[in-house]
Amino acid sequence: MNQTKQKVKEQFHLFLSKQGLKGTMQRNLILDAFLDLDRSTHIDELYLLLRSKHPTIGHATVYRALRLFTAAGVAREINLGDGLTRYEVARLGTRRDYLVCTDCGAVTEFDNSSVEQHQAEVAGSMGFNIQSLKIELRGVCNSCVAQQG
Ligand SMILES: [Zn+2]
Repeated sequence: MNQTKQKVKEQFHLFLSKQGLKGTMQRNLILDAFLDLDRSTHIDELYLLLRSKHPTIGHATVYRALRLFTAAGVAREINLGDGLTRYEVARLGTRRDYLVCTDCGAVTEFDNSSVEQHQAEVAGSMGFNIQSLKIELRGVCNSCVAQQG
């Protein structure tokens, strides 16, 4: 287990104990699956992934766990306007940006730390401290362009 993953788990368990909740076996399994995925996911995808290994896990359990991860600050909700709530691991200093195809709805994630750094510099020069932000670039993806061609 890497250090980041360990830290996220500690953060979650600290939150649970503060709330008087237990770290159940299923919550731990769901958190492991979520962290191992290492990209944004949505409830149905995570549920199917978990169910393939743990047939007794219910959809509602996965949903409640994701809500808990969000409340604990270990997950972050992303809404890209397609009606699907996605979740990603909320790590400080790592942010993903999104390319959204307006034709087929395909979502591509990308990391660009220089963009992030530049934004922090611009905000900082204006005396502003960024706490959260989301970049979503809308356009047409490669395969849609190819089909139209
Ligand atoms: Zn497309």
